[in-house]
Amino acid sequence: MYTGKTEQPCCLCDDPDAPVRVDLPPRAIPEMKYGGAIAWRDVVGEVSIHFCESDWAVVRDLVLETGMSPLPRCNVARASFDLREDFEAMLDRTRDEPDQSPVESRMRERSDRVRAEYGGDSLHTERDLVEATVVNWVLDGDAGT
Ligand SMILES: [Zn+2]
Repeated sequence: MYTGKTEQPCCLCDDPDAPVRVDLPPRAIPEMKYGGAIAWRDVVGEVSIHFCESDWAVVRDLVLETGMSPLPRCNVARASFDLREDFEAMLDRTRDEPDQSPVESRMRERSDRVRAEYGGDSLHTERDLVEATVVNWVLDGDAGT
């Protein structure tokens, strides 16, 4: 079964009106609610989660002020990502798993830049800063406490 990337509702409350999107590396999946069931190493590209306006305000405070990850409360069923086809993944399993490091180093570079430049003359938004903060937590294996 091929799981195409689709627009998803708010990962916290299932509101279909979820205008704020945050992109994360596949490594974020096991930290999400029900994420243990997903073979995150078979995910191709980035994982996107979406928030409605009111939940986004809470998430922003949680990340930037409290320093906690929202991921344990985000339902992985409402995330969007591409899984390799089951058959292909099965054939590959005896060979090597897809290498997540290109997407991870690209995201690390981007998030480091956002965090370094934020607040200066850059055009980074608060959303960019929240995303960058969570990406770094995930890649450091230190997503909240
Ligand atoms: Zn919501």
